[in-house]
Order: sequence, then C-alpha cells, then structure tokens
Amino acid sequence: MHRTAWIFAAALALGPAQAQEPPATLLTAARIHTMDAARPLARAMAYDADGRILAVGDPATLAAQFPRARRIDVGDATVVPGLIDAHAHVSGLGMAMMEADLTGATDKQEVLRRLQAHARTLAPGAWLVGRGWDQNDWPERAFPTAAELDAVFPDRPVWLSRIDGHAGWANGAAMRAVGRDLAGTWQPDGGKILRDAAGRPTGIFVDNAMLLLDQARPALDQATLERALSLGMQAAVQHGLTGVHDAGISLDELRRYQRLADRGAMPLRIYAMADGDAAALEALCRDGLYRHPSGRLQMRAVKLYADGALGSRGAAMLEDYSDDHGNRGLMVMSPEALAVASAKAKRCGVQVATHAIGDRGNRVSLDVYAEALGAAAAGDHRWRIEHAQVLAAADLPRLAAMRVIASMQPTHATSDMPWAGDRVGQQRIVGAYAWRQLRDSGARLALGSDFPVESVDPRLGLYSAVSRADAAGKPAGGWMPQEKLTAYEALRGFTLDAAYAGFAEGELGSLAAGKRADFVVLAEDPLAVPDAALRSLQVRATYVDGQPVYQAPR
Ligand SMILES: [Zn+2]
Repeated sequence: MHRTAWIFAAALALGPAQAQEPPATLLTAARIHTMDAARPLARAMAYDADGRILAVGDPATLAAQFPRARRIDVGDATVVPGLIDAHAHVSGLGMAMMEADLTGATDKQEVLRRLQAHARTLAPGAWLVGRGWDQNDWPERAFPTAAELDAVFPDRPVWLSRIDGHAGWANGAAMRAVGRDLAGTWQPDGGKILRDAAGRPTGIFVDNAMLLLDQARPALDQATLERALSLGMQAAVQHGLTGVHDAGISLDELRRYQRLADRGAMPLRIYAMADGDAAALEALCRDGLYRHPSGRLQMRAVKLYADGALGSRGAAMLEDYSDDHGNRGLMVMSPEALAVASAKAKRCGVQVATHAIGDRGNRVSLDVYAEALGAAAAGDHRWRIEHAQVLAAADLPRLAAMRVIASMQPTHATSDMPWAGDRVGQQRIVGAYAWRQLRDSGARLALGSDFPVESVDPRLGLYSAVSRADAAGKPAGGWMPQEKLTAYEALRGFTLDAAYAGFAEGELGSLAAGKRADFVVLAEDPLAVPDAALRSLQVRATYVDGQPVYQAPR
C-alpha cells in the first residue's frame, strides 16, 4: 500500500486524535527537580513520542490533560535533568578502557604488575599502552625512568601517559621507534624531553614532546577508534550523563561520530570542539557550524591550548613555581598563535574554548579574548576558559566582566589538593579552583570531569563540589572550604549552565515544556542527602529524548 494511503487507513481505524498524536508518555516520581526557576519542583512530566516535553506539573492535572498517555511511575525515585559533562574526552575514555589502567597505583611495583598482566593480552611485539600513573601517589614522588620499564620489557615498546595526559613515560624500545636521536639539548616547541646529566632522554616526555612517541605508534584502525567512542559513550550514560562536551577532536573523529549518529548509535549528545587551529576549524569556517539532524552531535566550538598542567609543572605561571625555582611552566600555543586562531574563530562565528591552567595561561587567554572580541565581549559569544584553574586576583573578575564562561572540574581540586599548594604557594593558591569566588563574581560555571583524567562519574564531581574533600572525607571540613558550592549550584553546573556553555539551554539542562526529555532517575534526592551520600547516589535509569539509554540491572 502507498504510504499516504496506509496512514489514512490507520487514521480511520484509530480515530482522529490518536492518529494525529502518537501516544505521549506521562512520567510520575516522588520529586522532579526541574532546574526551571518557574517551577523548581514537580511530580509529573509528559513528553511526546519525539521526546519533547509537553508539560511539567502534578500527576492529577497531567493525567487529565493526557488521558491516553503511556504511564511510567518511578515510585520514590527522584528525577533530575540529564547531567552534562562540560569538558571530557570520549575517545580517551574508550581508549583507556582498552589500555592498561594505572590509575591509583601507589608504587612503581604495582604499575609494573599491572603492565605485566595487560601485556599477557597483547600480541608479541605490540605496543603496550597505558595511562593514569601519577608519581605524586608513589613514596618517592619523583618521575620514573625508561630503565625501570626496560628491566621488565626490554623489547616490547611501552608508552604510558600520566594521569593528567600532559606527560608520558616511555621505555627504550618505544624511544627507539621514534626514529630520531632524542639525546642532546634540542627541545620540541611547546614540549620538553627530560634528559640526564649526559644529555640522554630519561624516558619522560612533557606536553608537545609526547607527540614524538604518539606518532611513532602504529596507527589504530577505524573499527578500534569507533569502538573507543562507543565504549566511552556507554560508560557516560551508565553514570547518568546525557551529554558530553568533547574537548578537542579532529575532523576524522567528527566523521567517526557522524557515522555512529547516522546509524542511530549515539546514546547521548556530543557537543564537540574542533581540536586546535587545524582541519576541523577550517571545515567550520568553510562549511558553517555543524549539527547532525538527530540532534545528538554538533560542532561549533574550537579548543585552543594556552598551557600545560600543574601536576607536571607545565602550567604557565606569572612567577616561578614555588617548588621549582626558575621554572614558570610553558605556553603550548604562543600568545600570537592563540590570537590568530581566536580572530579566525571570531570571523567564522565559532565559539572559543581555551585550555588555561596557570595564572599566566589564564591571563594570556583573557587578553587574547579581549583583543579578538573587542566590543563583542559584551555580547552573547559564550567563549570559555577550560579549567581556569589558577587565577591572579586581578584576573578573577575579568571572566564575569567579559562574559567568559568558567568551564571547571570539581574533581581536579580534590585530586590536586595534596600538592597544589606546594606548586603555587600560599598566596597564589587563594585564586586556585576558586569556584565560589568566580560564581559570586557573576561568572557562569559549567562543570565537568575532564574524563579520563578523572572518573567519568559525575557523582564524584557533585561530591567534590560540595565537600572539597577526598573519598574519605579528608580534610575534615574540606580544603579551602570557602570555595564550596551548594548541591543545587553543583547540579546547576552539570545541567543548565553546562547546557548554556553549549548554546543549548533553550533545549536542554532543565525540564520544562518545549525542552528535550533528557533526564536521570536517581534512587535518592541529590538535593536532600548528606554530602557524603552524593558519591553513592544510585542511577536507576538515564533517558535521552524520552528513551531509556541506560537502565540499572534490578
Ligand atoms: Zn581536557
């Protein structure tokens, strides 16, 4: 039968009302925290078959309004808008899930044990790749060396990135694969090869120097790369995320996402940033901002890199590191290169998101934004600073004044708190991880995790935001407790303000008529439980466009 005729026949059989409107869904819960100021609390929500919210209110009114709706009652559970991680790396997480996981290893022996176990799963001679080591977690707190890996892996190349992704540890076989003499005094732009007194590489490569090893690695095939994206997205929805801002991807990666979106294989929404001043930014300038028809994938931002990270002392500081005199870190992109890329983004209507950790990295980023935006700084540009980790007192109010979004990661504070004060000293630490000062100054806080640097689990971010304490609740009362957020503010950072940072607050981030039915069903009320219980909220289900993309096993 012809399609139109079939629809007409179906309409006659069902009656006009049902034919015109495929059944809506009416969800009822003990409480729905909508994050909508007009109606913060509700107990029912109706949405149509396309996953568009029709109404939010009380169960009796909505039941009368939508008598034929399919019913879902989640009982005593709490519903909140789908969580959005405003800064993360999906393929990094997926790759990490396929690599040796060294996170949390408390000494080098443990690292080597995990590497040996992982090596048993690999073909002979294949690169052993891992990530997550942190010398600050080991008794000696010093960078490791190639020799320590060579003792166990004399022939198999081994390449291990540090927990922050800003330094890597290679063995001799991996360094030989680089195909260039790594000894001497030369250094790559924006990076550093650590060398011993004789000028031989120690095996540690910082920031851009890591590219030497990354490029020596045999290329991964498309199927493996797609699998990494799928694994990363699946892990995200299992933890209640309905959106991720993927902080810097290549044009190839965008195409991989596109293929998944074409196949309906995107369980959540990806807001992608083009990685650096490269092919993806060119494509945005040439073809315009990108949006997949499914609404699950878009790219309209570019990620730039001012500096490195604090852990590896690569963050660019205005003065010397307090625990490394003579070292002020490094700029990954020069101020001139940042200015050129920002001006180009401005011309193309592309949002700029710059990685800036040190107070110099942040100051340069703000100066570059002020120059590139000019009078438009007062407008709705939504340019962002990623991490905004250490700010000089004079720069802190500039974010609100220039309407720059602070895209911050609560778990970075609680991971870094044991040593951040050593790096920057007691004076500069006052402007570090300064969520409360930034929020009170009027800046918008978009929260995220930077996974796989930190866990993908946003519950840990909510907990860190309200406690400024580690998993054991230490230090008592929290580290620099004056910077704590309330649970509501933290939730807002992971919902409405993260949506805003992706130009999506009209569709996402709160539950209100006309928006998308992206939400999470939690066993407990995150705005009522004690702080410590935020870590263990149970995610019962995650919905995107009104469809369950994750349901906890019963
Ligand atoms: Zn990142």
